[in-house]
Amino acid sequence: MLSSKGIIGLIVLYFVADYSLKYLRKRSKDFESNTTESSRNIIDGVEGLIGNTPLVRIKSLSDATGCDILAKAEMTNPGGSAKDRVALAIINAAEAQGLLTKKGDMVFEGTSGSTGISLAMICRLKGYIAHICLPDDTTQEKVDLLEHLGAVVEKVPPAGIVDPRQYVNIARSRAESSSAVFADQFENEANWTAHYNHTGPEIYTQTNGRLDVFLTGAGTGGTISGVARYLKPLIPSLKVVLADPPGSGLYNKVKNGVMFDIAEREGTRRRHQIDTIIEGIGINRVTANFEAGRQLIDDAVRVTDNQALQMANYLVQNDGLFIGSSTAVNCVAVAAYAKKIGPGHTIVTVLCDSGTRHLSKFWKAVPTGPPLSLDEILNI
Ligand code: PMP
Repeated sequence: MLSSKGIIGLIVLYFVADYSLKYLRKRSKDFESNTTESSRNIIDGVEGLIGNTPLVRIKSLSDATGCDILAKAEMTNPGGSAKDRVALAIINAAEAQGLLTKKGDMVFEGTSGSTGISLAMICRLKGYIAHICLPDDTTQEKVDLLEHLGAVVEKVPPAGIVDPRQYVNIARSRAESSSAVFADQFENEANWTAHYNHTGPEIYTQTNGRLDVFLTGAGTGGTISGVARYLKPLIPSLKVVLADPPGSGLYNKVKNGVMFDIAEREGTRRRHQIDTIIEGIGINRVTANFEAGRQLIDDAVRVTDNQALQMANYLVQNDGLFIGSSTAVNCVAVAAYAKKIGPGHTIVTVLCDSGTRHLSKFWKAVPTGPPLSLDEILNI
């Protein structure tokens, strides 16, 4: 015979077992419906992979400065850099203007950098043909990559920007004479607006609007202008800071309103005025894309080649983060600025591209020994 306690125990056991069973059935139903939902969550084509890049906290730099150092991982775009956003925006704008209408239409650009790779990729997936003019001393790796992506590659001897045989000028005149599209990343406003429409809003959402500084380098100026124009009206206290490599005039343009670099003082001019290992950022003229956000840039930080090289070694050894040269400049400048403003701030920067794009030049010069401390790098 069961005691009354035993009967109560059995009743409780029955209800517990019944509840557990119902709970498990519900979980499995939820799981089924979630699976169906997530299987619908499919990205349509490679262009769907562009943007919405992660924002990653760089642990070593954050711990060493007491600031939250967050970086937009643009190297996770399918073409390996933020230029995917720009190339897609340029092509979409040309389509909207009726300049690209059918498969086989041509898009010309003069670039030895990431823009060519992104344009080649987008042209391939939309059926257009990218024609990329570049200096004939561009690494074979890059030429191979462009050709594998289906671009027509035209190598021209290096020449100054005012020379009609310079690679950007050749691309422009080829486009004009064949009534084709000239992508024109430096002057085309589809560049900064791509960052205004996407990169800026993504940063705002990912940080819940809580950031004190946005800091990055400028090549065309599209990134810094687009992000600054989006974020500044929403966060009036935000400081926008430029990271600038050797040989670039932008630092002085921001700090003193004049375009001048120490390398340009009389008697020191060289044929290759920008004598630096850094690629993709630094320039000696004000482009339309830089001008679009110039007034919103509050400060600038100069970075040397040696600091960038040491930073690349620091990040790969401390964080397993394998970066390209312009990213190394950003990270040195971010650390310097964090030290200047003190702990407790949130600073967002950009991981422009991966070190794999820079194996044959920048990474050949990166030191291999134990990394210097952050203070040592900042004081070189
Ligand atoms: N990093 C790399 C590797 C680049 O190719 C570029 C663009 N030239 C930049 C940074 C700078 O970006 P933006 O052109 O938007 O100023």
